[in-house]
Amino acid sequence: MPTTIIVGAGHAGGQTAISLRQAGYEGRIVVCGAEPVPPYQRPPLSKKYLSGDLELARVFLRPESFYSANDIELRLGKAVREIDPARRTIVLEGGESLAYTELVIATGSRPRRLESPGATLGNILYLRSLEDADAIRNALVAGRKLVVVGGGYIGLEIAATAKGLGLEVCVIEAADRILGRVTAPEMSAYYTRAHRSRGVDVRLSTAITSFEGNGTVQAVVCAGETIPADVVVVGIGIVPEADLAAAAGIRCDDGIVVDERCATSADHVYAVGDCTRHPNPILGRTLRLESVQNALEQARTAASNIAGTPSTYEQVPWFWSDQFDLKLQMVGMSQGYDTIVQRGSMDADDFAMFYLREGVLIAVDAVNRPREFMACRKLVPQRPSIAPARLADESIPMQEMV
Ligand SMILES: Cc1cc2nc3c(=O)[nH]c(=O)nc-3n(C[C@H](O)[C@H](O)[C@H](O)COP(=O)(O)OP(=O)(O)OC[C@H]3O[C@@H](n4cnc5c(N)ncnc54)[C@H](O)[C@@H]3O)c2cc1C
Repeated sequence: MPTTIIVGAGHAGGQTAISLRQAGYEGRIVVCGAEPVPPYQRPPLSKKYLSGDLELARVFLRPESFYSANDIELRLGKAVREIDPARRTIVLEGGESLAYTELVIATGSRPRRLESPGATLGNILYLRSLEDADAIRNALVAGRKLVVVGGGYIGLEIAATAKGLGLEVCVIEAADRILGRVTAPEMSAYYTRAHRSRGVDVRLSTAITSFEGNGTVQAVVCAGETIPADVVVVGIGIVPEADLAAAAGIRCDDGIVVDERCATSADHVYAVGDCTRHPNPILGRTLRLESVQNALEQARTAASNIAGTPSTYEQVPWFWSDQFDLKLQMVGMSQGYDTIVQRGSMDADDFAMFYLREGVLIAVDAVNRPREFMACRKLVPQRPSIAPARLADESIPMQEMV
């Protein structure tokens, strides 16, 4: 019987197994995960699970019974230590070897770590796993001082959640604006105002020199000032988990390099999710994405190819972030825009920012505007030319934009 082994029981790994069965694959499926729990969703870990508003059972991709009912073997709590593409085997922690017909690498990513003096003090925490979220949740006690290092989506979501739990929250960002890697200065300024007006102390252009404490952290030392802290959460980006693939001789370049079928440079080896660098024919370049959409769609593509129906992955990226009462939904990649158009009101927290390049709509950031988001998921892949005045005009419904 053919055997597909999936390395990594996260969002992409779990979805690959689910999609294989949905596609009618009748071979053996083994999902090997380093974490001791079945595949789960990470987005709630900085949002409703962290705030205590979502119970654990709802974080999992499927209940555990789903896997046995669908003849999917979960090997949890043991990392895969080695892949041998020539012999088509993997070796698990402890030495057990398993043979595969097809292999899917879905190892995700790990948080980039700070190396400043004192960075290993207690209560300096990172967020990637359920275990990390539980540790942070225990540390987020009302009245405590939280310093979040990094003004990216995850840091800002944690800041918003912690503020809601009654902590004093300070966000430290080294660059001169938050969300600088992913959005326009106008959006960065809006989110800075949104956090400040809700009581978060946002410090820009602030570099950390060290941490002070006695066993556990007590302060974050920056150039020229010392910020008291009972808890620090660091969110300064991720590193794709590609070491296993690289050691197996599989081509990597800031991620495991795959083609549009999610196939790697090794025969019978696919890779999906955060760990990959993949081509996007619509954007005309390769990229690495850290998003649920990417994890799910690459998983479906690899599963379809393994199950015998050729499939390619070509989609405009989309993403979301929840902070306070603000639901941000994004479509496309705004980098390289030459015109930005606002529809709606920033003061009312109800607007969309459209990005155009040479008259063509390439991306949107929508705050509490699901209609604009949904419309743009259809529009952006079509590369439509739309006059900025039409986009800004609230009297013209989104469906009539083209
Ligand atoms: C706090 C947080 C909030 C997020 N919010 C959003 C959001 O709002 N919207 C959005 O689109 N995306 C969000 N993301 C990103 C999204 O969760 C990821 O893009 C997605 O989880 C990627 O899925 P993956 O399967 O590639 O990686 P993961 O879900 O990280 O799974 C990888 C798994 O592989 C395991 N593994 C690694 N190495 C090995 C090994 N050698 N052997 C066995 N197992 C191994 C890991 O332990 C892990 O369980 C968020 C992420 C985090 C951490």
